[in-house]
Amino acid sequence: MNLAEKLMEERRARLAAERLLELKQAELSAANRKLGRHALALTRQIGATQAEVAKTRDENKKVKLDLSTANEKVEKAEQRLWDSLGAIEDGFAFFDSDGKLISANDAYLNLFDGLEEVTPGVSYVRLLQILTDEGLVNTADQDPDLWRAQMNERWLSPNPEPIVVRMWDDRYLRLLDQRGKSGDMVSMALDITTTVQYEEELQTARERAEAANRAKSAFLANMSHEIRTPMNGVVGMAELLCDTGLSEEQRLYAQTIKNSGEALLVIINDVLDYSKIEAQKLILHPEPFNLERCVHEVLMLLQPTAKDKGLTLLLDYDLFLPNTFVGDPGRIRQVLTNLVGNAVKFTNTGHVALQITGIGDPDEGTCSVHITIEDTGIGIPEEKVQHIFGEFNQVEDERNRQFEGTGLGLAISKRLLELMGGEIWVESEEGKGSCFGFRIELPVVADSDTSIPPMPPGLHRVMVVDQPSVMRDILNKQLAMLGLEVTLIDDGASALATLSGDIDLVVCDEHLADQEGADFCQQLRSGSWSNTPVLMLSSDPVAVADPRNQSITNGMLLKPIQRQELFNRLATLHDDPVQASPPEPLPGAAPPAAPAQTGPAATENVTPLPCGRRKMRVLAAEDNRTNQLVFRKMVKDLNIDLQFAMNGIEAVEAYKSFQPDLIFMDISMPLMDGKEATQKIRELEYGTETYVPVVALTAHAMTGDSDGILAAGLDHYLTKPLRKALIHERIHAYLPAEAAPLMDDHAAQSGAA
Ligand code: ADP
Repeated sequence: MNLAEKLMEERRARLAAERLLELKQAELSAANRKLGRHALALTRQIGATQAEVAKTRDENKKVKLDLSTANEKVEKAEQRLWDSLGAIEDGFAFFDSDGKLISANDAYLNLFDGLEEVTPGVSYVRLLQILTDEGLVNTADQDPDLWRAQMNERWLSPNPEPIVVRMWDDRYLRLLDQRGKSGDMVSMALDITTTVQYEEELQTARERAEAANRAKSAFLANMSHEIRTPMNGVVGMAELLCDTGLSEEQRLYAQTIKNSGEALLVIINDVLDYSKIEAQKLILHPEPFNLERCVHEVLMLLQPTAKDKGLTLLLDYDLFLPNTFVGDPGRIRQVLTNLVGNAVKFTNTGHVALQITGIGDPDEGTCSVHITIEDTGIGIPEEKVQHIFGEFNQVEDERNRQFEGTGLGLAISKRLLELMGGEIWVESEEGKGSCFGFRIELPVVADSDTSIPPMPPGLHRVMVVDQPSVMRDILNKQLAMLGLEVTLIDDGASALATLSGDIDLVVCDEHLADQEGADFCQQLRSGSWSNTPVLMLSSDPVAVADPRNQSITNGMLLKPIQRQELFNRLATLHDDPVQASPPEPLPGAAPPAAPAQTGPAATENVTPLPCGRRKMRVLAAEDNRTNQLVFRKMVKDLNIDLQFAMNGIEAVEAYKSFQPDLIFMDISMPLMDGKEATQKIRELEYGTETYVPVVALTAHAMTGDSDGILAAGLDHYLTKPLRKALIHERIHAYLPAEAAPLMDDHAAQSGAA
């Protein structure tokens, strides 16, 4: 190669190297630029991060500061809490879920008498052990082991009940323990010593007050009892005085003495009862008794007052309800007397209706007896309805001024019913009337007869003649329940006009809208339907016993009608058409009186009268001379043989020698009481076919004094003070057929018939 070529080649190589260099330089400067940009971004990022770090550092500093402030606060609060807990007198402690003490205030620790062992970490079980071992707790009669076991069991329960423990120094602590969610237990021991002492003082004071109240009530009860006996004499004598020849003025005075005495006796009896309840001396005497008869006796007692006021007393005793229950008849009678007595007292026109129903529980052998007494009287304002059951509470003074009463009757009735497990209520509308009701659960006597007797053949259709009334509705319902077809006729003339051969029995009231029941019966007897049996209803026992009425009817029924009485009348309807048999005994006179004269010695004491008949023999067992005198005077016009016995023993002797037709028996007598004497007489009668009716005379029939009277074999009882009319009524009711007529007014009238 020549030089030129070599130079060319060198030039080419240099040019190529220069181009490569340029290229590399360009690449380098591009890389430099990129690096510069990256460095710039990195610098910026570092700046931002540094700012953030600085900010975070500031924040951390603040948080730290806050935290230490909060800590300080918590510590302060905890300190304050413990200072407070330390300051209170009640014990306070925390336990962990294993029952180990975490912390406790001084009051809590002091319970343990500063024992060093009682520090955080000690277990609850150990604390209990210390309490008993060191005699710090007074477990009284309880065995310490048992006490600890019970306390521990309580502690382990999820929600321990508060408990009171007595400490050795007679301090009382109420322990309250509350378990937290984590199982920790917060315990408090509240010092309730002053409260307990206060309660004890209160209890002692209450017991003293109650004892004083009982003593007062017992004193009142004794006083009432003592006052009652002479008062009976005053009232009895005043009644007799009224029957003697007196001037108008003297009669007024005697009548006032009698009325005031009677009013006082009612008050005394109420106070006596209330005092007995208060003194917790009132005990119930349950015995089998006939509820229907009991109700009837109450109605009979109130019938005269109701009659005087022109009120009708009505009874609707559920036909399917048993009549023999176990209960305290005296107390049930007392409640009934009060409620029916009030109904009569606060009613001026209309009626007083008793409804007796019941729901039986065959499994228990009991019956929930439901009795309502509805009246058409003055009613009670709504706001006073509950008030009247309180002691001495009456509806407004002005209203009551015209009515007598202590305001104790309903309070006593309510307490008595509560004692019997029953309840009482009232619904009333002022001006329209009231309805008092009560309910008591009574065991039913197993042989209590609820079956309705079959009606005699030929008795299907009954005509009831009476103006529309509640009484007629009740009778209609009862006859329909007996399966009889009833036609209701409003008056006598319509009855006579519609009567046909289809009617098997006519039942009429003694007072019809157009005529007297007796006149109606007379017309019936003399007309074409003279053989149709007729029963007449009357609320007057004298009219029921009147032979004139008996001779024109097939039987008289005393209103309100006793169920059994109605059944018997219907069942024996065809036995004895139009008869003049002796009157049915009044309620309570179970077997008839007549057999008493069939006894072996019955003729020994016969005192023949001009008419050939002997006098009726009446024995009165009564130990009080004043009462004897009262009794003698009351029956002096009756022309009977009267003999007295001073006690039960004499009464039994007199029963044997005197052969009485009727005995009036005082219940409380020395040596042998009236109940025992009657039992002895019933024993003597056993198997002889004789039966002498015995009428008890009780000081206060409404109280427990009368318990067991009827169960002891007595047929009926009268309450003192003795009432001439009631004594006469009894004597009339039991007058034997073969004895001479009684010579008082009624008998004179009867004799004239
Ligand atoms: P008392 O009849 O002796 O006043 P009670 O305790 O028996 O006392 O009755 C309290 C009061 O309740 C009566 O005074 C009377 O105001 C009212 N009261 C009770 N029964 C009736 C009733 N059937 N109708 C209207 N008011 C009655």
